Amino acid sequence: MTKEEIKAVLKETLKSKRYKHTIGVAKTAKKLAKHYGEDPERAYLAGLLHDCAKNVPKEERIALAESYGCVLSDVEKRQTGLIHAKLGAAMAKRDFGVEDEEILSAIRCHTVGRPGMTLLEKIIFVADYIEPNREGLPHLDELRSMAYIDLDRCVVGMLENTFSFIAEGHGEVDEQGLRTYQYYLEKVKE
Ligand code: FE
Ligand code: FE
Repeated sequence: MTKEEIKAVLKETLKSKRYKHTIGVAKTAKKLAKHYGEDPERAYLAGLLHDCAKNVPKEERIALAESYGCVLSDVEKRQTGLIHAKLGAAMAKRDFGVEDEEILSAIRCHTVGRPGMTLLEKIIFVADYIEPNREGLPHLDELRSMAYIDLDRCVVGMLENTFSFIAEGHGEVDEQGLRTYQYYLEKVKE
């Protein structure tokens, strides 16, 4: 599928707010890619597809993900909102024809990250948080500038925000998210 075809499908399937966010992430990812010497077009494509599974209804997520061969964690089974990352990667491959493994892994880890992310993976992880349509998240201005200075510090800051949000009683911490945090915290201390 071409980018234009992908956009047309996403415009159909995603709610308008989500579609706007999607375009925001794709454009931000492209900008970050140019800044850090990653391929802007791959970053744009990964951004475009990162939330492609967001439209799947709650009650269908687990079954659909398993039918696509995704292995889900217990936290994902309880918090089905997390599933769209793995399912999105599977859909990007099967439904949108993406073969680039790094793009697929960037989609797969965009919600909780992973220790040792590649540059492209980090770009998508960060772009998802700082894209211009995002509002109401803590320390947004600071993280938006940090993104162009130090991606690792930006990752640490984002996860700290996520964990404090969870500590206020929203959902539970995903173990992989915790591992991502510990990894990058160590890394920025070096
Ligand atoms: Fe997402
Ligand atoms: Fe997103």
